[in-house]
Amino acid sequence: MRIVVVGAGLGGVAAAVGLHRAGHEVTLLERGAELREAGTGIVVMPNGLRALDTLGLADDVRGHMLPATRAGLRDWRGRPLLVTDAIQAQREVGTPVIIDRAQLHRTLRAPLPADLVRTATPVERLEPDPTGVTVISAGDPVARADAVIAADGIGSRLRGRLFPGHPGLRRTGRMDLRGMLPRPPGLATDLLACQLVDRRGGAMFGLFPVGEHDLYWFTDSVLHGAPPGAAEARRQMLSLMADWHPLVTDLIEATPPADIYVDPIARLAAPLPSYVAGRIALLGDAAHAMPPDLGQGASQAFEDAAALTRHLTGAGPADVPERLLRYDAERRPRANRIMRAASRQSRLTSQTGVAAWLRDALLRAIPSRLATRQLAALWHA
Ligand SMILES: Cc1cc2nc3c(=O)[nH]c(=O)nc-3n(C[C@H](O)[C@H](O)[C@H](O)COP(=O)(O)OP(=O)(O)OC[C@H]3O[C@@H](n4cnc5c(N)ncnc54)[C@H](O)[C@@H]3O)c2cc1C
Repeated sequence: MRIVVVGAGLGGVAAAVGLHRAGHEVTLLERGAELREAGTGIVVMPNGLRALDTLGLADDVRGHMLPATRAGLRDWRGRPLLVTDAIQAQREVGTPVIIDRAQLHRTLRAPLPADLVRTATPVERLEPDPTGVTVISAGDPVARADAVIAADGIGSRLRGRLFPGHPGLRRTGRMDLRGMLPRPPGLATDLLACQLVDRRGGAMFGLFPVGEHDLYWFTDSVLHGAPPGAAEARRQMLSLMADWHPLVTDLIEATPPADIYVDPIARLAAPLPSYVAGRIALLGDAAHAMPPDLGQGASQAFEDAAALTRHLTGAGPADVPERLLRYDAERRPRANRIMRAASRQSRLTSQTGVAAWLRDALLRAIPSRLATRQLAALWHA
């Protein structure tokens, strides 16, 4: 069966590999001039790893497991709020992976034969008819397919065309900065795999080791006006976090602006009425763009890719609409639930004033065993 995947992000690449391995004739169309994924580290949760496992893609990713650590939530000075035992959580639900995004993308796309990929092909629209879908780029038909997987990301143009009545994206009023840098020699810190929150302004800083040699940090704070460039965003963050634990400003300062990524955070304004329209299925951020607070965006895209592959295995062209409806029935309730949970988590960590003071008091009172169970539940999603 001929399947076109639109968008070669992490989700599109995983789906293309799964569908190719299931014996379909896959074409992967990407608007960018080359296949690449830019920017810092990424957390792949145990559920995302299980999905990659079913696609035969997890082996090389597993080498980047989060080292055993205590993890947890701290205040801006690094004082513990919620101490978790990540080793116990790992025993219960599996271990997350922290990996360089570019490396993850390279690993996932490695099994895909180069002749299945067409770069510099921005898909403009899809024209479905009773027997298939014609894919249009730059005004011309570029492919004909029995099924199309729209994996064109958070700003998905195809989502807007399939569901014109949907309100699309909504900015959350937050901005995230991300950076990666070599781990300073001799660095010993109990802040690894921790998130620091500041109830005074609702900002957050997180830190993860990437392999033995690198660190990945991220911040979340209020976005005032238009998103600034990396140098200005770094300056703003250094000023905002000047009295935080000294490691925070040390690490931000040690990261050159060229290695800092600034993202205004957005999510779907409302869940989609369906992830499917006839022979077309949405996947990844195109279907369920969520704030990054649970670290589930990519893992949900991998679950989509695994489910699509399973439902389309052995299918012929006539089966497509019915098989895609099964995909929608399996994936939409779960991914939408996680999308809502990510928004709740974002509101919780960005609280200020009395609500945040109460939150911190409550977090301090939670026994470590219970906190560990909550961490395991988060990872388990
Ligand atoms: C600050 C931040 C931190 C995050 N951290 C994590 C994390 O730790 N863990 C996690 O799981 N998730 C995280 N996420 C979310 C995660 O990055 C996304 O959920 C994931 O990358 C989505 O993958 P995707 O393939 O759906 O979309 P994308 O990666 O956006 O890929 C879409 C692809 O489609 C292409 N494209 C777009 N339009 C067209 C078109 N018309 N024609 C052809 N090609 C097109 C694009 O060029 C791109 O290559 C984070 C997000 C942010 C913003």
